[in-house]
Amino acid sequence: MGSRPAAGTTAVLMLALLALLAFDATAFEGNQQREGVTLTYRDPADALDATMRARIIETFFTAYLRERADFHPGAPAQAHIVIDPAYDGVAFVGEGDGAATITINPGWLAKHPDDVDLVTHEAMHIVQGYPEYANERVPGWLVEGIADYARDRYGRENAAAGWALPTVVKPGQHFDTGYRVTGAFLKWSEARNPGLVKALDAALREGRYTPALWDQRTELALPALWAAYVQAR
Ligand SMILES: [Zn+2]
Repeated sequence: MGSRPAAGTTAVLMLALLALLAFDATAFEGNQQREGVTLTYRDPADALDATMRARIIETFFTAYLRERADFHPGAPAQAHIVIDPAYDGVAFVGEGDGAATITINPGWLAKHPDDVDLVTHEAMHIVQGYPEYANERVPGWLVEGIADYARDRYGRENAAAGWALPTVVKPGQHFDTGYRVTGAFLKWSEARNPGLVKALDAALREGRYTPALWDQRTELALPALWAAYVQAR
């Protein structure tokens, strides 16, 4: 009789311990520091395996340290990456727990495991750190174009993902199409006007971007520069 409750209690304790171990096994959190930048990686649902985790962390540091050094050394020294199965987009940057946070949908990476350089694009958004988004002072097409320009320049596995900036202009595309279309235009323009992207980025961050900046840096108004680009392609 006497041993029964004890056995029951032991069983309950064992179950509680197993539950704790299971909880630990299904939640990953870790910190890594490189060259003064600390990354906190959190995967509360243990949605991605250790191999993908290592690729994400490596891609982040490879891209962010260079993007930060080249464009904005004052960009945050703390960043978070959160793996969130409840997020149904691909990835985005926001603030979480007081730090710039890249939220990633693990379902996307499960289907597109070579698209890990989405981290390179998002890391550039942390470097950009513009005070506004999608208005006249900070046009969304330019913000996304610069992020894809950075993905092309600093990415590690773009070729494996079949990801590249386009080399042709398709009907209906314009300088303000954004993402890769604008990224390719920026790359072409930068090659002819070194320092252009850095100047655009700084102006966007400081709230002094206007289309006239293109004239000043390239001696062509934006529509004329686009026309020259289309001609060249
Ligand atoms: Zn973006």
